[in-house]
Amino acid sequence: RFITFEGGEGVGKSTQLDRLAAHLRACGLEVVTTREPGGTPKAEALRKVLLSGRIAPLGPLAEAALFAAARIDHVDKLIAPALARGVFVLCDRFTDSTRAYQGARGGVDPQTLALLEQAAVGDLRPDLTIILDLPHEQGMARAAKRRAATGLRADRFEAEDAAFHEGLRRAFLAIAEQEPERCCVIEASQPLEETARAIRQIVNARFLE
Ligand code: C5P
Repeated sequence: RFITFEGGEGVGKSTQLDRLAAHLRACGLEVVTTREPGGTPKAEALRKVLLSGRIAPLGPLAEAALFAAARIDHVDKLIAPALARGVFVLCDRFTDSTRAYQGARGGVDPQTLALLEQAAVGDLRPDLTIILDLPHEQGMARAAKRRAATGLRADRFEAEDAAFHEGLRRAFLAIAEQEPERCCVIEASQPLEETARAIRQIVNARFLE
């Protein structure tokens, strides 16, 4: 079972992913948690390069190619073997982030992205994609709070304007509309615990009942 978490900046993906992992483990199930870009030592090295700004501005197409390179390693070494063992794999961002960031926002054409995606993942598709939806002001406020708490630098997109983040939000919602069987949009402005419960209900109904 392959479950991905998607959404813009500060929507709470990693928190909700951890919550769901804890729930599944409490049910006695084995869970592998991972993230993109990253997940394996080589893909994490690519993440560092991509997010450090050292090679910025690189341009969305070159970025998409690097995200694909990281994804090839991640799928080959971690995701596919774990799925073959029959465990749950929960991944923080996956191909939909590339479609939204480098595609809808970056302007890379969908055919090129589809080729890169096919090369990286083949026929692998998430069984379920949780799209966390939040008005961008709230997402930005959360991201700023996290920065203050952790001392981390701003993510490269956190400085972008409201139009950028609203566009990103619309891109994720459009993906959900195109693939309603796979994608489930969850309102992330409700209290964290409510969001976690909504996600548990969907996962229980799909995979555990
Ligand atoms: O999810 P997380 O905040 O860890 O993502 C790291 C950064 O990578 C974010 O700033 C996100 O916007 C960016 N990203 C991207 N393109 C992707 C995936 C992530 O620009 N395909």
